[in-house]
Amino acid sequence: MTTQLPHAGESESVGALPILSHWIDGRPVDVALEQTGPVFNPATGEVIARVPRGGAVEVDAAVAAARAAFPAWRDMPLIARANIFFNYRALVYKHREDLARLITRDHGKTFPDALAETLRGLETVEFACGLPVNMAGMNTPNVSTNVDTHTLRQPLGVAAGITPFNFPCMVPMWIYPIAMMTGNTFIWKPSSHTPGATQLQAELWKEAGLPDGVFNVVYGGREAVNAILVHPGIDAIQFVGSTPVGKHVSETGRAHGKRVGAYTGAKNIMLVLPDADLELVADSAVASGFGSAGERCMAQTLVMTVGDVADRLRPMIVERMARLKVGPGMEKGSDMGPIYSAEHRASVIEWIEKGVAEGAELVVDGRPFRHPEHPNGFYLGVTLFDHVKPDMKIYNEEIFGPVLGMVRVHTFDEALDLINHHQYGNGTAIFTNDGGAARRFELEVDVPMIGVNVPIPVPAGYMSFGGTRGSAFADLQMRGEDSVRFFTKQKEVTVRWPQPGKHGPLSLVFPGN
Ligand code: NAD
Repeated sequence: MTTQLPHAGESESVGALPILSHWIDGRPVDVALEQTGPVFNPATGEVIARVPRGGAVEVDAAVAAARAAFPAWRDMPLIARANIFFNYRALVYKHREDLARLITRDHGKTFPDALAETLRGLETVEFACGLPVNMAGMNTPNVSTNVDTHTLRQPLGVAAGITPFNFPCMVPMWIYPIAMMTGNTFIWKPSSHTPGATQLQAELWKEAGLPDGVFNVVYGGREAVNAILVHPGIDAIQFVGSTPVGKHVSETGRAHGKRVGAYTGAKNIMLVLPDADLELVADSAVASGFGSAGERCMAQTLVMTVGDVADRLRPMIVERMARLKVGPGMEKGSDMGPIYSAEHRASVIEWIEKGVAEGAELVVDGRPFRHPEHPNGFYLGVTLFDHVKPDMKIYNEEIFGPVLGMVRVHTFDEALDLINHHQYGNGTAIFTNDGGAARRFELEVDVPMIGVNVPIPVPAGYMSFGGTRGSAFADLQMRGEDSVRFFTKQKEVTVRWPQPGKHGPLSLVFPGN
């Protein structure tokens, strides 16, 4: 295994930094130093490695490898394919702490959080191990006299996955297991911000016995993505990331004849009714809003309170925020790590400034926080706004940082209407002890992932995951049965086995039943 990058501070000059490699046709592809960019450890602010900046040439090479590997992979017996997945599942589990350490090092989230992400990703690998069952088609005898039909489910060819920085293990594991287990070969374009766990996943596939060319990795940004979107050798793309990029991926990929599912940005609202258990609500709001520094697409970053709940809830949230420890993700006791990049930290600070300028009440200000031992780390404290209004930018736009906003409304109906008309629709939650209100919320809220007294309602890895409005550009959800359909095409075969003398006379009439 080669993914053992030095710890921050061990490398002294750019030339001495380890350079990660694309992974094409089952092996690393070396790149020149000038074709690389820096990888930061956000906990210290240091550059710890160099990551390749790939483009059309590397995408071409990956497509060639994936195309060449496709026929044998498609034709491999399902159980033989599944056995490789069982091997991979065991290896990921064995290396779960290695993966988590790499995630924490590159992303900044705490080690327990990185470990949890790895295990949640593994759920979809486990789902894929059982996919031979889902590949079954239908068989219908006697659709006409002595005529039967059956359905074949076949892979599309070469699929690509384009993924964000914030879940370097879990989100790609929502895509490639189903793409590959259904018989496609795969090209992964991961985020360049969090490459360590990517490299290890590629190496573990090799160790699991995956044939070369079935799983390929091309690093890079816009150039690599645009090469994927127009490449005639790629049949399908699943994208997870921000809304503007996802919209571009969806429009361009579809215009070039590909199946595309793009799952994008979010601004999730948790609704709190007056009868809710406020201890649970306060814990949930703080955990959901500040876990992983708010860099989760399912974080509930707006707490919408009905009636007089806000006055009782606010001090409970403030008291919990004061107890949070911000520090390096590997340090025991850290509740929240740094922001993943210096640029993103600056952007979150700008959002806090906008909120103040718009007239929201800044109750807790995270901007002054500095980590005493890591002054160059990308840390930010936790921020709370109250009296956030639906016409404010901080209500409408995704901040993707540790900033929680309280929105006060008078009635359940007013809240429901606001949630249903927000430009994003990814996840939502209701906090109440009133089963009737929760049932009405489930039925009437126009958001596909709903929590009832559950603040981060990410469905289990074998179920579907999706968004609406600005949170997805897709005909189907991702994962689960929807992804099996996404990554396969159906054929209907109509069959007659002639029995001598029994097939009737010649007729030019359209065949009927
Ligand atoms: P991003 O859109 O910046 O990047 C996503 C991918 O697109 C990366 O691989 C990146 O290299 C590539 N990319 C970036 N800019 C590009 C451009 N101009 N042209 C072509 N490709 C480009 O997203 P991010 O900052 O890595 O991740 C955070 C975003 O992802 C947030 O908006 C978050 O809500 C969203 N997200 C959504 C889900 C979901 O399931 N809906 C899950 C996780 C994250």
